[in-house]
Amino acid sequence: MARPKLFESFREVQAELERSGSALFRDKDGFEALVIKNPYAINYIHSYAEDTPFFLGLSEGRLLGSQCTGPKCEFLYATPRGHCMVCGTRTRWQELPLNGKLHSWTTCHFGSEAFLKETPYNLGLVEFEGAGSLLLARIKEATESELYVGMPVEARFDARPKFSITDIWFVPVKGGSSPARR
Ligand SMILES: [Zn+2]
Repeated sequence: MARPKLFESFREVQAELERSGSALFRDKDGFEALVIKNPYAINYIHSYAEDTPFFLGLSEGRLLGSQCTGPKCEFLYATPRGHCMVCGTRTRWQELPLNGKLHSWTTCHFGSEAFLKETPYNLGLVEFEGAGSLLLARIKEATESELYVGMPVEARFDARPKFSITDIWFVPVKGGSSPARR
C-alpha cells in the first residue's frame, strides 16, 4: 500500500481521511503522526422490563411514579421502582402531577455527545406534591440566572418519543408565582 500523503493542516488531513482513510500529519515541531479513519457503530439492545409502563407513559404524555402497596407505608416515588426502599413491599404505578417545583439544579457546560449541541443546559431535580423522591430532568426555556429553589415548573413531552428519559423535560410555569429570588 502506498505511503499516506503528508499534510501540515489538520483540515487537509480530515479531507484526505474522507478520500482515502489515512493520512500523515506533520505538526509545527516536525513531528509526524499517522492518522486513520475507521467506522465505529454499535447497536445497543436494552429491555426496560418492569420499567416498560414508565416509558410508554412518557410517550403518551403521562408521568408515572411508583407507590408502595404496603398499607402502613404508601411511600410514593417519582421514578420507576419495583419495590419500596422503606419497607420492601411491591409498588404499583401511580400517575404523578405534571406540575412540580424545582428542588435544585446544575448547569452543564459540557455533556455526552447526545447533549453537546444543547450545552449549556440545565439539569434539575423536580419535586411533586405527595411524592417522597425527586425526578432528574432537563429544565428548558430558562437560563441559569432565572432558576431558583421552589420555582414552579411543568412537564413537556417529546412529540416524537424515543422511549428515553429525555422524552420528558420541564419548563417554568408562565405567569406562575415568582417569590423573591436568591
Ligand atoms: Zn413501603
